[in-house]
Amino acid sequence: MKKVLSFDVDQTLNVAKTPIPDEIADLLIACLRAGFAICPISGQKFDQFLVQIVNRLVERGATPADLINLHLFVAQGTQYYKYGISDQYDEKNWQQIYSFPLTDEQVKKIANAIETAAKELGFWEEDKLADGDEIIENRLSQVTFSALGQKAGTKEKYAWDPDCKKREAIVKRAKELAPEFDYEIGGTTSINAITPGMNKVFGMTHLLEELGVKKEDVLYFGDMTQPGGNDYPVKQMGIDTITVRSHEDTAFALRGILGITNHFCEA
Ligand SMILES: [Mg+2]
Repeated sequence: MKKVLSFDVDQTLNVAKTPIPDEIADLLIACLRAGFAICPISGQKFDQFLVQIVNRLVERGATPADLINLHLFVAQGTQYYKYGISDQYDEKNWQQIYSFPLTDEQVKKIANAIETAAKELGFWEEDKLADGDEIIENRLSQVTFSALGQKAGTKEKYAWDPDCKKREAIVKRAKELAPEFDYEIGGTTSINAITPGMNKVFGMTHLLEELGVKKEDVLYFGDMTQPGGNDYPVKQMGIDTITVRSHEDTAFALRGILGITNHFCEA
């Protein structure tokens, strides 16, 4: 019996970069109430965890008591947030338990390498950015390249690099320019750059420690479990992993775990 359900976010719980749908929110609340610790791990920043997951759970009826079992592993788990007890939900009650930021020097090096690589390859899409948006973002524990920025439409993002070939080329060149960092492909247009070891294995290792559980207690869900994908390291470290194509697959699996009948076809 698993104690912890851990999830990639983009494409696993949601349509990349958007709030989780009602069905996923309801299933996560049901899992919390069934006694599972729920641990999303993603490259996103803390405020995005609030927008995409926490606020949705609260909207769908999660109480502060439910949120005690929700553990946010932000920026691939290089930051960890827990909810402190309170009568009414208040965003201010989230507490950062730990954080391992990159140095300014490291951020600069990574940003230069990715920008140079993307420009050389003709994949630097500055002209397509929305006002105030940025391609390279310092997420403290990692630097993230989002080819079309944060605010681009989902359709445009899906269309930009469906076979990951553009990003693979950028990663290959960036790795030549700044080989001391690791580059992972995630989401639909993103590359996350980190110091080696600061990937989801780092987050998962800390998760095991913080929650006081063993590897075999955890079930992980991710859409990028292929070699080179940002969920692959979790699978490789020996955590039981379910590969999903979308949040629909995740919902299907969660209904199975909760013992809710899956209807293959409605009569
Ligand atoms: Mg994903």
